[in-house]
Amino acid sequence: MIGSLSLKQLQERFGGELINGSVEFSEVCTDTRKLNPQALFVALVGDNFDAHDFVGELDGQALGLVVDREVRGCSLPQWRVKDTTVALGQIGLLCREKFSGPVIAITGSCGKTTVKEMLSAIFSQRHTPCVTAGNLNNQYGLPITLFGLSEEHDVLILEMGANGPDDIAYLCSIGKPQVSAVNNVMPAHVEGFGSIDAIAKAKGQIYTGLDVGGTAIINADDNYADYWRGRMPEGVRTLEVGLASQCEIFAENIVLNNSGCAGFDLVIEGLSYPLQLQLLGEHNVHNALVAAACAFAAGISAKEIVQGLSSLRGVSGRLQEQRGICGATVIDDSYNANPGSVGAAIELLAQRQGKRILVLGDMAELGPDAEGMHRDVGDLARERGLDALFTLGPLGTAASLAFSHGGKEPLQNYREREPLIAALTHELDNNTTVLVKGSRSARMELVAQALLGNS
Ligand code: ATP
Ligand code: MG
Repeated sequence: MIGSLSLKQLQERFGGELINGSVEFSEVCTDTRKLNPQALFVALVGDNFDAHDFVGELDGQALGLVVDREVRGCSLPQWRVKDTTVALGQIGLLCREKFSGPVIAITGSCGKTTVKEMLSAIFSQRHTPCVTAGNLNNQYGLPITLFGLSEEHDVLILEMGANGPDDIAYLCSIGKPQVSAVNNVMPAHVEGFGSIDAIAKAKGQIYTGLDVGGTAIINADDNYADYWRGRMPEGVRTLEVGLASQCEIFAENIVLNNSGCAGFDLVIEGLSYPLQLQLLGEHNVHNALVAAACAFAAGISAKEIVQGLSSLRGVSGRLQEQRGICGATVIDDSYNANPGSVGAAIELLAQRQGKRILVLGDMAELGPDAEGMHRDVGDLARERGLDALFTLGPLGTAASLAFSHGGKEPLQNYREREPLIAALTHELDNNTTVLVKGSRSARMELVAQALLGNS
């Protein structure tokens, strides 16, 4: 945290009630398992937990409390508020207001974490960025990132995720970005929105959340580019990226190397810079363009952008290639899946040599058309000539049926992990590449670990 804050300051700005006086703090904790006597403890309430159940015993284990009901018999200073999650954001906002460097925010259906890591690689060369840790991109994670801001940081890079229609507006009200990007819009987390148009509208709040003088990075290749252009707030500058040479920043001469990493010419303001990525998949050209534009808008030189992008070697759980059992090549993309990212994975696998197997755990949160989207993925895998599709979970049946021409060939659809791994193991040799993917809930990292011989 930059400097310190006090409960009194919070109460004066945001209301609520002070109990047992005020206290100054420079650390915040939300996890009862990691209590810290030097930190303010915020008692969060979720669907399945209520930290207030533990706060009675916190005397001496925290500096003070943020609670939604008074904790009796506890002598710690307490800030009583209506909603402790909102209070967490308000503390985050005060931390943000003390920071004067550039703030970049990224949202989108896929690639947010990848773009964030690209930006981190670019800025880390000559700056000290404060970056969203892991995937902490929601109403809990974003404030936690802001608490981590310190005097040495000179740029703030925020990943913003949305599960509902107003999430991005809320996150912008706390993070206050000056450079914002929607990486792309695809069917992901559809359940919280109802339709893909609603997703585009919700993501667009990252642009309407910009103040005058801010910069909106627009992915000109996205179907919703026009929609956003038409809704840009007055006084916001736009910077367009894409594959077309009309864009201020664009990519041309894209060539995939033998591993499937893209090399291309990055053109910035008419000057061309050759660049070789070390990340698998052509989709990373788009991610790199968006990262380049964010960095450029924040004043980074083209040369430094190219150096940073070339240096990034991988993002954990996203398309990580390793040698597995029986000499097979295993690409671990188990971190998450939606139709867009599965499409990108299929394209990558399709241009590999030898036998190519996609292992797909069910894609979750896709709403009423989930089965249709699984069918489309099965069709795409067949059209691109993959040699086998192994699926795990009930929705995978639709993908497997589509892949095998409506069941004319045997289905490789499983309900349990172990039989899938056993059947898959028979298919492996040193001429085979297996790509493992699925939604978080499918826990496909366990399959990837087994194929890597780590289980
Ligand atoms: P989450 O919503 O889970 O936070 P994210 O938007 O942060 O996801 P990443 O974690 O970077 O995205 O990547 C998730 C998956 O999407 C990975 O499988 C990755 O390979 C794939 N992916 C990344 N960028 C793109 C892209 N531009 N188009 C399609 N798929 C992509
Ligand atoms: Mg992410």
